[in-house]
Amino acid sequence: MELSPFLSVDTPITFRDHPGVMSAVLYTNFHLCNLNCYQCHNRHHFKEKPKYLNWRELSEKLSMFKALGVELVIVSGGEPTLEEKIEEGLKFIKEYGFPVRLDSNGTDPERLEKLIENRLIDGVALDVKIPLLNEYTPYQLKRFKRVLFSSEDLDDSAVYNYSKKVKLTIELIKRYSLPYTIFRTVEYPLFSEDDKRAIKEGLKSFPHQFNPFYPVEENSV
Ligand code: SF4
Repeated sequence: MELSPFLSVDTPITFRDHPGVMSAVLYTNFHLCNLNCYQCHNRHHFKEKPKYLNWRELSEKLSMFKALGVELVIVSGGEPTLEEKIEEGLKFIKEYGFPVRLDSNGTDPERLEKLIENRLIDGVALDVKIPLLNEYTPYQLKRFKRVLFSSEDLDDSAVYNYSKKVKLTIELIKRYSLPYTIFRTVEYPLFSEDDKRAIKEGLKSFPHQFNPFYPVEENSV
């Protein structure tokens, strides 16, 4: 049977992912991402070849969510906007009547806008990974390359390009004011207090949370 874009892994059902709302999480390929963030948990913990749910298995999962009273389906990854069959997958979820929140790194505003225009998502959890500035100092560039790409050996344009795309995504989210939207940032140990202030400052009119950083393993990266 044809495969859906979602992985066959345990589905967390919690009130924590979207505060106060009973949510179930479906994942696209953990390794399909255009960033390589500092100590990305998904990349470290799921090394085996991904196995996908077929459409019948996905249907069974969604029926189970209904029976359990799930109020929101969260689609996370990897980076779900890179998944070829994401539209098809979201349409399938929508047929079960669930609102959907998409977790994204915000680097593809064009694809995200198409999903919003086609009413396939009802919110975005946007990871704002660094302060979104027009100019960065060499010291900031060095640290932010590590945050975004786990390497300092990259052209500065990679950080500027990230910042430009995520700013466009924020503008987009502002325009559509979708109900299930949150902004969040991992409190990476590479940040200074000024970095954290700049992130907060840039998002001051939105709900934003810092999430604690958990190292993936001793002595890694
Ligand atoms: S954007 Fe998310 S999935 Fe991609 S590397 Fe960063 S933490 Fe990992």
